[in-house]
Amino acid sequence: MSVIMATATSLAVGSIRSRRSTSGVTRFKMAVRSSSISVAVAPMLTKLQQDCATPLPVLRSVADSMSADMRAGLAVDGGSDLKMILSYVDSLPTGDEKGLFYALDLGGTNFRVLKVQLGGKDERVISTESEQLSIPQELMSATSEELFDFIASVLENFAQKGGNFNLPPGRKGEIGFTFSFPVKQTSIDSGILIKWTKGFAVSGTAGKDVVACLNEAMDRKGIDMRVSALVNDAVATLAGARYWDDDVMVAVILGTGTNACYVERMDAIPKLQGDFSPSRRTIVNLEWGAFRKGLPLTVFDRDMDAASINPGEQANSKFNLSMLTPISLIFEKTISGMYLGEIARRALMYMAEEGSLFGKSVPEKLSLPFVLRTPDLSAMQQDTTDDLQTVGSVLYDVAGVESDLNSRKIVLEVCNTFVKRAGRLAGAGIVGILQKIEEDTKGAIFGKRTVVAMDGGLYERYSQYRRYLKEAVAELIVPETSRNIVIEHSKDGSGIGAALLAATNSKYERNL
Ligand code: ADP
Ligand code: MG
Repeated sequence: MSVIMATATSLAVGSIRSRRSTSGVTRFKMAVRSSSISVAVAPMLTKLQQDCATPLPVLRSVADSMSADMRAGLAVDGGSDLKMILSYVDSLPTGDEKGLFYALDLGGTNFRVLKVQLGGKDERVISTESEQLSIPQELMSATSEELFDFIASVLENFAQKGGNFNLPPGRKGEIGFTFSFPVKQTSIDSGILIKWTKGFAVSGTAGKDVVACLNEAMDRKGIDMRVSALVNDAVATLAGARYWDDDVMVAVILGTGTNACYVERMDAIPKLQGDFSPSRRTIVNLEWGAFRKGLPLTVFDRDMDAASINPGEQANSKFNLSMLTPISLIFEKTISGMYLGEIARRALMYMAEEGSLFGKSVPEKLSLPFVLRTPDLSAMQQDTTDDLQTVGSVLYDVAGVESDLNSRKIVLEVCNTFVKRAGRLAGAGIVGILQKIEEDTKGAIFGKRTVVAMDGGLYERYSQYRRYLKEAVAELIVPETSRNIVIEHSKDGSGIGAALLAATNSKYERNL
């Protein structure tokens, strides 16, 4: 009891007074709750914090396993949880690129088109323009032709809009296509769709080359454009950041999902057969969402994971998780934006049911999967009012929860526990990549300035997440070297990055 109260006091909830009726709960809970609601919840919170703890040895083991898994995945296909996919991007932007290029980004929530007029080393980006729209709901379950015809017509309209852009006569517009679904890439400009994810259920694309699908749609409409590069968002971010800064070696996406890629020596990739000089480099895509070793997990993670593998459990829900994640992506589920809100919701539901966190009744809306979203956690954590008004209104608005100051404090602790774990694990993953490169080439990372380019809504908008991530990196790397590691947000880098990769892989002579 004294231990429990000490925990409660350290959370500043020691003086909690229950104003709720205790009828309908077990006698044990009645007795405990009569002194304070936190008495039932405090040990739950303590257990949660213990299960999610990421002290230095845990971080170190995650970083080391990440390095080892990278090595195993580079040795042989299927050798590790990490697929270590070759991106076929082996010429990075240099700054010399010239001309008009397009980018098209089809990913989780957004669909973007962009055009950029590049002027070479002196002028760099002469002009750029972009548009963003959402894919109409009905197209997400349409036929492949319908979806790609729609994309082609959006591109055509966008390309026709004026501005300071010009394509020399006789040349087709070249597109860098950022496609963030699982593809088996076969060259820089072709890749077979393995499966739609993230709520897309378009028929007839799986097993086909998505570049051919788009090129054929443009042919059907008589649009004079071609895809020159097919990339994912991490690769595009790396290319975009590298255009401005030669020290960029790694890119990490933390948005709805997560991924990472880095610049690797070709001679350090055994599964890429052939003789390569150490100077030849390529971008390798980790697909790090599938990483799983040594992660501190809770019962809430396991339940959510089970729900995603077993669609039956979600049968009555608006969301069918199995459609969103075809394989069990444990690392992605602990660190990315799609899931943080849901894990917190599951923990809060448990505390409401078993610890009467919100009084004797359990708020009905809180039982809806995904009702609490990651931006809600972030909004609550920015609350600076004494009575935690924002926390109260978010809880009320999204889940119909009436809360008092004490339960709001517990809610904040729960959010913080998961966000801290997420940010710190992502940081450990980054260190794993850096140390793998350093092990192969002494001084390549820690002996000089090295930039990690970050992008994605979660990283961009969740300040606590960013802070935890950077703290973990600083804890893992000795101070003299950690000064060399720059973790930098590369805003909108992926759009320009994809266009730049269309330029570096242009079908035409480089210099105009
Ligand atoms: P996508 O990953 O779908 O390409 P983004 O990079 O824009 O898109 O990331 C969107 C994700 O970022 C959302 O799914 C959400 O999880 C997270 N996010 C968006 N806004 C916020 C916010 N204010 N605070 C925390 N996370 C946010
Ligand atoms: Mg994205």
